[in-house]
Amino acid sequence: MNASGFKHGIAGALAMLAMLACQPAIAADLASVQVIEGFRELGGYIASPFLLGGAWIAVKITLLAMSIGLALGLGLALMRLSRFKALNSAAWGYIWFVRGTPQLLQLVFIFDALPLIGLRFDEVTTAVIGFALNEAAFSAELFRAGILSVNRSQSTAAAALGMGPLLTLRRIILPQSMRAVIPGLANDTIGMLKLTSIASVIFVNELTFRSQQVVGQNFKFFTVFGAAAVIYLFLTSGISLVQVWLERLFDHERDRKITFSWFGLRASKHDVNPAAAPVALPVAAKEPEAADHAWIGTLLPVENRTPRHCGEPFVACRNIWKSYGKREILRGVDLSIAHGEVVVILGPSGSGKSTLLKLINHLEPLDWGTIKVDSEYVGYREVPGGGGTVRPLHNLARARAEARVGMVFQHFNLFSHLSALENIVEAQRQVYAVPRAAAEALGRDLLKSVGLAAHADFLPHRLSGGQQQRVAIARALAIKPKLMLFDEPTSALDPELVGEVLGVMRGLADAGMTMIVVTHEIRFARDVADRVVFMDGGEVVEQGTPQQVIDNPTHERTRKFLNVVAN
Ligand code: ADP
Ligand code: MG
Repeated sequence: MNASGFKHGIAGALAMLAMLACQPAIAADLASVQVIEGFRELGGYIASPFLLGGAWIAVKITLLAMSIGLALGLGLALMRLSRFKALNSAAWGYIWFVRGTPQLLQLVFIFDALPLIGLRFDEVTTAVIGFALNEAAFSAELFRAGILSVNRSQSTAAAALGMGPLLTLRRIILPQSMRAVIPGLANDTIGMLKLTSIASVIFVNELTFRSQQVVGQNFKFFTVFGAAAVIYLFLTSGISLVQVWLERLFDHERDRKITFSWFGLRASKHDVNPAAAPVALPVAAKEPEAADHAWIGTLLPVENRTPRHCGEPFVACRNIWKSYGKREILRGVDLSIAHGEVVVILGPSGSGKSTLLKLINHLEPLDWGTIKVDSEYVGYREVPGGGGTVRPLHNLARARAEARVGMVFQHFNLFSHLSALENIVEAQRQVYAVPRAAAEALGRDLLKSVGLAAHADFLPHRLSGGQQQRVAIARALAIKPKLMLFDEPTSALDPELVGEVLGVMRGLADAGMTMIVVTHEIRFARDVADRVVFMDGGEVVEQGTPQQVIDNPTHERTRKFLNVVAN
């Protein structure tokens, strides 16, 4: 080989090496070109009116079917919770059938069956009907679980304020149950959006079906199905965002500034500035304000402040009998209370004290006997010519509202999703149709009278037990009660908080309110009660002035009880 041949050989070898070295780069270039092309194609399909049109059909079916399905589901849930067995069984039968059969078969069946009974709809409408009927069964169980998750004490408190069952459901139970229901409903919505693809069996031309059609023509599986997946992901992300927003809205443990309602269903917008929210104040850090008891008297209706001198007692319980199952709880109780009188009921646990209070404002029905408050039966009417026989009234809520009997519970039972002021305003607005401004003005006056003017916007969980009970008293006073019932109002309180509640009650007694107080506070009974009644075993054992019953009891049972309480 000569020199020039050698040179050429070297150059050739170098060129070969260079080519070999460039090979991966060329391959990589090719691959990246393909990837870019792939993404461009994917983007093209995502933006294609054909696929987007299919997505819109899926969204339309989901929105309509969810709306109808949720309304039906709530109805079914209420039927399931009804005490009428026929309603409960019908709802259960529907849920059993729908949950137990494939949705695909349900769609085909509806598509074929509706025309047979003369109902002809287009495919999308048929799909909406099919999905709505299916969703009703599933959401019914979600709603039922949500409603059951709300403590019964909430509906008892609402009933004591004269709120009817539907009003209680809408204003108190549903807003509190939404927190438990929303995650499940979001799952259902996302599931339905994706499952609309099965509507292709009844010729609904939605997103998945359309992407299959495109792939059938061009075999571009990855880009076409990838585009459909991206569109689905985008839509379901939207649903997840709405879920987060709704959960925050119905999270009643967050403090908030603005409350609003849709169709009367209350929700609240949360305060974004925690420094400005009442939450910034530690509950116990503030000294309790002095309760201004003089206020309480001025807030009572005039007739409550002027003693009456009519022959009939203001509260007249005659021969009251009440059983739960086979157990007799009250056995022929007779009790008369004069207008303006403060009666304290003492007695061991289980002696029927709470039951007696619940019978007085008809939170429970009587088995036998009669109760009159201010000469009227509460929730009963006398049968004409029936010799004193009484029948329960149909509209019990209205009867309770008209009776104006305020009740305060051992565990306060404040509506946990409403602020202190809203708790007081609720029954005034919803039951007695008091204009908002007047209801809020009275609410603020009452809060001031129980020493909580600065706590109007606090949610119950931000208040101490004593503060909650004072709000509960203010709430009961807001319905302008003729009679106040207290069921162990201080039993759930820490000892240092008892005084603030008893103070408010003393003020109320001084203002002339007729009160029946179940309590173990012997000192309160001695100082404030006009009369003390001792109950045991569902009977009134003895009654008299505090000096008679507390200091000189005549019955052994009373002595025993007082010994236990004193120690
Ligand atoms: P007290 O308030 O004097 O402690 P209650 O009036 O609450 O007594 O209850 C008296 C008895 O009735 C208790 O033994 C209680 O278990 C029973 N009781 C109360 N309410 C019901 C109810 N809704 N169903 C069945 N039993 C009940
Ligand atoms: Mg009790």
